[in-house]
Amino acid sequence: MNPLRMPVIVGNWKMNLNLAAAVALARATAGIADETAGVVTTGIAVPFTFIAAARESVASTSLLVGAQDVSRHESGAHTGDVAASMIAPWCSFAIVGHSERRQDHGETDDMVRDKIAALHGAGLTALVCVGESAIQREAGDAVAVVTTQIRAAVRDLDDRRADALMIAYEPVWAIGTGVSAQPHDAQAMAAVIRRELAAPGPETAARVPVLYGGSVTADNAGLYLDQPDIDGALVGGASLKAPAFAAIVRGAAALRA
Ligand code: PEP
Repeated sequence: MNPLRMPVIVGNWKMNLNLAAAVALARATAGIADETAGVVTTGIAVPFTFIAAARESVASTSLLVGAQDVSRHESGAHTGDVAASMIAPWCSFAIVGHSERRQDHGETDDMVRDKIAALHGAGLTALVCVGESAIQREAGDAVAVVTTQIRAAVRDLDDRRADALMIAYEPVWAIGTGVSAQPHDAQAMAAVIRRELAAPGPETAARVPVLYGGSVTADNAGLYLDQPDIDGALVGGASLKAPAFAAIVRGAAALRA
């Protein structure tokens, strides 16, 4: 973690919970966000149908509420899609390029780049996920895969857009498996990502938070946050239980203190 960047902890709820449970978890998470406000940036990425209720139930808190995806299109004949302008009243960010979207919906790097542009057009931050599969890592292709994904994502990067960008390095084999990456491997990839972000200039790279995601728990989060190029965590399973997520956020605050 670089002392110039505030740690960022984002929970990805995926397709879990019901409306009542989502509101209760949003409220509990907001309490943690407020307790650590100014020290840690805390967010939740919520299923589309719960976004408004989650935001309205935590209206006066510092918790960031976001979506888990967004359409690459502004409007029109795209049945089932949700435009950036449609989430903007409640959201400050959206995840794009999560490996589950890439796998389940054939999302390509070009689509991810369009989605980033759509979010920026609506004044929202893009949390862009990149990461290699187990086969790609075993073949020695991890760096090439992530570099390609990042180059596509940041092709139009400038300082203004860098302020509305976060990257999550999420090795696909580590997501939801309980097998987290070695912290030094995650750091090595975060350094690769930051090098790519530096294309417009080192100051641009320095302002973009790079998170690690993949089986992060309260027990291992600190190992990632200790790495110089890792600024936070994207947390799936452990974000669904308020005490576990609170422990990760409080751990980040303690490291920062
Ligand atoms: C994720 O949802 O992006 C994720 C990393 O999940 P988990 O923490 O459950 O591995």
